[in-house]
Formats: sequence, C-alpha cells, structure tokens
Amino acid sequence: MQIAIDGPASAGKSTIAKLIAKNLDFVYCDTGAMYRTVTLLAKKNNVGYGDTFNILKLMSEHKIHFLNKEDGQHVYLDDEDVSDAIRTEEITNNVSQVSAIKEVRTELVQMQRDMANDINIVMDGRDIGTTVLPNAEVKIFLIASVEVRAQRRYKENLERGINTPLKELQDEIAARDYKDSHREISPLKKADDAIEVDTSDMTIEEVVKKVTEIVNEHK
Ligand code: C5P
Repeated sequence: MQIAIDGPASAGKSTIAKLIAKNLDFVYCDTGAMYRTVTLLAKKNNVGYGDTFNILKLMSEHKIHFLNKEDGQHVYLDDEDVSDAIRTEEITNNVSQVSAIKEVRTELVQMQRDMANDINIVMDGRDIGTTVLPNAEVKIFLIASVEVRAQRRYKENLERGINTPLKELQDEIAARDYKDSHREISPLKKADDAIEVDTSDMTIEEVVKKVTEIVNEHK
C-alpha cells in the first residue's frame, strides 16, 4: 500500500507521515530531505544553486541514502549523516531553486519510485500524489494557514535554540510556497483524487486520527 502526503511548507507533513508509518509499520520516506541534500551538496562544493550541469555531475558522483535508527530516519550524503545540516536556513531558503531543476527532479523521482516499489510506504513531499506515486491508494493534501505554520515553525525553532522572528518565518514560508507552486515541472498541487485536510485548528493527535480513518477506508 502506498500513502502519499503532500502539502505546502511546514504543514506538518513529516510529523504526521512519520506517526502514520510507525502506527502501521510502514516505511517512511521524506522526499524533501532528498532535495535538501542535493542543495547541501551544491553548497559544499561551491556550485551555484542554478548550475544544472555541475549539480547533475555532483549527483552522479555522490550517493544519497536513508538509514532508519532508533531515534528516527537519518539522511546520509555518502558516509556523512547530514540530517541536521540540511535543516539550516541557508538550505531551506535555497532548496526551491534546486528542486525546480527538471533533471534533478527526474533523478530523485526515479529514486523515490524505486524505494516505493513493492513495499508499504508513507511518502511525503510536494508531488507524490501527482507525479511520483500517481496510483497511491491514499492521497492526503495537508494544509494550514501561513500564520499557523509560521507559529509552529517558530516553536520548533525555539526548542532547537534558534530564535528567528515570526514575521521572517512567515515570509520565508510564503516565498517557498510561491516558488514550489509556480515552478514548471510538477509544481506543488493537490492531486484531483487527494483528500484535503486543513490542520490549522487541529492537534497532531486529531490529524493522525483523521488520516488513519481515511487510510482505513481505503484498506
Ligand atoms: O518538505 P521539505 O520542506 O523538507 O521540502 C524542502 C523543499 O524540497 C520544498 O520546499 C520543495 O522545494 C522541495 N520538494 C519538492 N518535491 C518534493 C519534496 C520537496 O520539490 N516531493
């Protein structure tokens, strides 16, 4: 069974997807982490975020993979655990430029389809229901107001010792949504057969319950 969870930045996709995967004993795949890792790869090698040729060259020379550990899923660039390094502001603010490159998407989409082949998986991203897994049995489109999403990110950041002003987070989220929704190749868009869940006024538990109900209806 394939469960696709898409939606705009900071809508809670990964939090919900991880919990659903854990409850159902499914594999979880965070596709955003893959685009972030390619962005980090460019940064580390001083390659411009729009330099398609050199980004593709770097992708062919390096390996991105996931390892599931006790404390959750870790992302590796070759032998290096980059799970934290891909969450910096620098990467967050530039990932949409890298993810808009057609050839980067072609490669990562293929990797994602290979990962989902023949297993029970919950995959979260922007184009899972529309492009990566168009035949997924369950497609969820998670949304929340920009204000609520910025608030959630603000709290998360504080817990990690980062104090970015709320307004700055709100602007960053809105800018990233705009770029992700307006790119030429598989933009962020609700699949026709996806079920929209607005989490603005819901707790994590309530969203998990709602998504679980939807999954059960499709079993
Ligand atoms: O989900 P996350 O916020 O980590 O995603 C980071 C970025 O990766 C998104 O803003 C988007 O540009 C890109 N992305 C994408 N397609 C996906 C997942 C993420 O273009 N399936």
